[in-house]
Amino acid sequence: MISQGVKITTQCVGCDGVLILDTGQSIEGGRLWWGTEGACQCCPAAWCEQDFGDATPEGIRQALLAEHGPARLRLTAPEASGVPVLRALREVHGLSLAQARSLADELKTTSLVGTFVEMELLAARLRHHCVGVTVETSSG
Ligand SMILES: [Zn+2]
Repeated sequence: MISQGVKITTQCVGCDGVLILDTGQSIEGGRLWWGTEGACQCCPAAWCEQDFGDATPEGIRQALLAEHGPARLRLTAPEASGVPVLRALREVHGLSLAQARSLADELKTTSLVGTFVEMELLAARLRHHCVGVTVETSSG
């Protein structure tokens, strides 16, 4: 399973104690999931939220990017036909054709940047359409 997580220390709203949030993104069953579990060190507060789709809360994305750095998705053969690329991008993000075109242009000319899990999900979809891609992370 592809996943990436980060621990965030924050303040418990119940008791003002130290609350540790264990949050992250993963790919399960071909979909993007994000989840957060919190446990307070001082009171019994604990919760778990999980959801899936494109809408990972921005705070979670930023925490992952800050902790692990962004991942870059590149085409191994940028000169190849753009049709499968457009198709894959639209499947993943539910984009309009115009939005998918601009994203595909970005991918062809430079690379797409996002969290590791987001780029791996796109990469899997692109490979499904026989498009060669690599995902590079700053850690190698
Ligand atoms: Zn507490």
